[in-house]
Formats: sequence, structure tokens, C-alpha cells
Amino acid sequence: MTDQVMQEELNFWLQRWENHEIGFHQNAFNPWLVKHANQELGVQGNNVFVPLCGKSLDMLFLLHQGYSIIGVDISRRAIEAFFEENNLSIETVIEHHFGREYRCESIRLFAADIFDLPEEIVASADSFYDRAALIALPEVTRISYINYFKRCLHNKPGLLLTLAYEQEVMPGPPFSVTKEWLQKQEAIDELHIIEQKNIIDDEPRFQQKGLSELYATLYRMTYCL
Ligand code: SAH
Repeated sequence: MTDQVMQEELNFWLQRWENHEIGFHQNAFNPWLVKHANQELGVQGNNVFVPLCGKSLDMLFLLHQGYSIIGVDISRRAIEAFFEENNLSIETVIEHHFGREYRCESIRLFAADIFDLPEEIVASADSFYDRAALIALPEVTRISYINYFKRCLHNKPGLLLTLAYEQEVMPGPPFSVTKEWLQKQEAIDELHIIEQKNIIDDEPRFQQKGLSELYATLYRMTYCL
């Protein structure tokens, strides 16, 4: 992947945040996270890594549950909005060579390209929560993303939420990611379906694009050593 392609992908997201085109953002906690976090993400006090976090309220839920958060998103706007909209005052801002870190109580959010985030930061997490992150990326980047996690998050338990649908009918993002695709990835070790549902009836946005089925799946997964 050339730097130029990568930069175009990042610009696409930065532009979406600038233009408030953030249909992926949910105004409520993810119900499957609420149901399964304590069982799957380890004991309270654990550090949960939230890749491509946007301003997800799920981070607030995890904080309320007693977890610490490490998040990363390319958009400063997204991260600053997370603090502002949830009345959390930023205690420290640190300028790193790879991006900007914002800290508040048990949260460290990095405004950076995930591929620039030093691996030891991710490796300090105990588990991870991936919603609309892996499926936000086109296949080539998605494979780099999986291999990055294999290097720094192997053997840690995590929750992965995906969507699967007929890719020919609608271009991503979000991209369709099936269980078969995930199973083919050598970097992925354990993969277990916890919940699955066709959610098309609740998704007019996707109906308008011509989809008749949209499967949401929650997996328990680990990356290989
Ligand atoms: N997980 C969040 C946001 C999902 S949308 C939620 O559930 O709401 C995907 C997010 O990934 C966007 O906020 C985008 O800015 C971010 N992103 C895309 N590519 C990235 C990269 N290479 N590094 C860091 N963030 C990235």
C-alpha cells in the first residue's frame, strides 16, 4: 500500500468528521457490549484497547464499569468531542512524534494513525473492543490492521462486532466481513460467535442502499501469537 493510498483513506475520515457525516456514531451504549463486557473483557480495572474509537459512547460505558481505556482515532475532532460531549475535562495533552495524546482519569485517547501508534502502548492493554473499526477498513488495510494486532495484542481476549451483507449491492465503508473471511486470516486464533442477528429492519439507511439482509455479529476473538 502506498503512502498516498493510506493518506487518501485518512483524508476520507478526516473529511467525514469535518462534515459531520458520522452515521456510524451511536447515541446509546451498544446493547451487546452491555450484555457481555464483564464476561468477556476481563476483570474491572483492566485496560481495554478501543481501536478507531471515534467518539463512541461505548468507551463511557466501559469507564462506568471500572475499566481503563486506551483509544485511538485519526480525528482530533472526534476525540475532543468525546471529552466535551461527556463533560470530561481533559487533564493532560501530550504531543508525541506520532500524534497527540489526551488524558483524563482512566482514559488515554490518541489522535493518531493507528499504524503509527507505538506497539508497546497497545501491548499494555489487557483486552480490546472493536466496533466499526475492522469493518471500516478496505481489505488491504484490514489485513495490515490484523497483522498489527497479531504483533502487539496477541493472546488477549477481545470483542469484535462486524456487519455482513452483499458487498456488490453497496460499497463500504462499512465493509462486509464474513465469518469465512475472518477464519481465513492466519493472524486470527480464536473466533467464536456470541450473538448474531439480521438487523436490516432497524436500519433504514442500509435499506435505502438496496440491502435486504444485514447481519450483525458479535465475536469473542483473539489474535495469534
Ligand atoms: N468505533 C467508532 C468509530 C467507527 S468509524 C464507533 O463505533 O463509533 C471508523 C473510525 O476510524 C473513524 O472515526 C475514523 O476517523 C477512524 N480511522 C479510520 N482509519 C484510521 C486509522 N488508520 N487510524 C486511526 N483512526 C482511523
